[in-house]
Amino acid sequence: MIGLSKSSEVSDILQKAQDGETLDYSDGVTLMESDDFHGMAHIANGIRKKLVGDTASFVVGYNMNYSNVCAASCQICAFYRRKGDEGEYTYTVEECLKQVADGVSLGATEIHIVGGLNPYLPIDYYEDLFSSICREYPKVTVKALTMAELFFLAKINRSSVGEIAQRFREAGLKTMTGGGAEILHPDVRPLIARGKLTGEEWLRTAEDAHNNGITSNSTMLYGHLEKAKHRIDHIIKIRELQAKTHGFLSFIPLKFSLPNTELLRSGDVGDPSSAQDDIKVIAVSRLLFGDLLKNIAVYWVSMGKRVAQVALNSGGNDLIGTSFSEKIYKETGRDETISIEELTHLIREAGRVPIQRDTFYNPIRYM
Ligand code: SF4
Repeated sequence: MIGLSKSSEVSDILQKAQDGETLDYSDGVTLMESDDFHGMAHIANGIRKKLVGDTASFVVGYNMNYSNVCAASCQICAFYRRKGDEGEYTYTVEECLKQVADGVSLGATEIHIVGGLNPYLPIDYYEDLFSSICREYPKVTVKALTMAELFFLAKINRSSVGEIAQRFREAGLKTMTGGGAEILHPDVRPLIARGKLTGEEWLRTAEDAHNNGITSNSTMLYGHLEKAKHRIDHIIKIRELQAKTHGFLSFIPLKFSLPNTELLRSGDVGDPSSAQDDIKVIAVSRLLFGDLLKNIAVYWVSMGKRVAQVALNSGGNDLIGTSFSEKIYKETGRDETISIEELTHLIREAGRVPIQRDTFYNPIRYM
């Protein structure tokens, strides 16, 4: 009886979503706790199709991590180093520009720039970096920094987030990456993101960036210590901010990769999320955002190429992109690369028409 009533509750919620009604927190938790990922994926795919048709998009992007020096020590992170640690590095602006040249030679239209919370780099470094890229490669879009970096830089420079955002915008920063959100809920966040900004601070930083003319993406790291209710709390908070600013370009669920992280070493997390869970996260994200946020992105680097194809038929509409030179997941052992040809092949195999897009999700060419 209990099973039956739960299943009819899920059906009712899916009907609401199909009818275009906004799902609430309780609806979201019921879906996220349900095993009916087929039903959710089916409805989510229908909503996706109404929004973008038969297409799936990607950007030709080059990832550049200017420094791995970080003042925080997130339990989820295999990337950061302390100053003086083996493997610690910070690139000069000139070294960064050489990497941008590599990216441009591979056809990149976007440079995705993130690093640690580096207390040794002045604001001028970032301004010089952004303006130099814009000057030397005017066709490339600078997508840079997580909310954690922007908040940290404002704090150590005793400025407001708005002031730093304006300076960066004038230097050429066009949009932000959306990272650092992890799980916003205060019961989970200290257990996974030690030393990083709080969930409330992440949301305020995003709002300040949006209000100062800088759009961003948004992310959610799942598959560690969080429960269904924390995922839904996270999605609803981002949805509420989107309704206010319309500054998010996409929502990107990121599957947690365990190797070389404190969470794995401590034994607090033993297994990665299942493929079934990965699909459910994409589907529920689509169902909760509805048409308020058109782009639910599938990060193939975190999810794997094959599961990513299924995700494209379960509510996801974008494969993020080539992510040339990706280093953050690489530190956790996920050393996957992809060519533009393979990316378009994956999309076609999933039954969709590939579109190369720009950073702002405008189509560049149908492939
Ligand atoms: S996740 Fe980011 S803020 Fe946290 S330790 Fe790693 S680099 Fe630093």
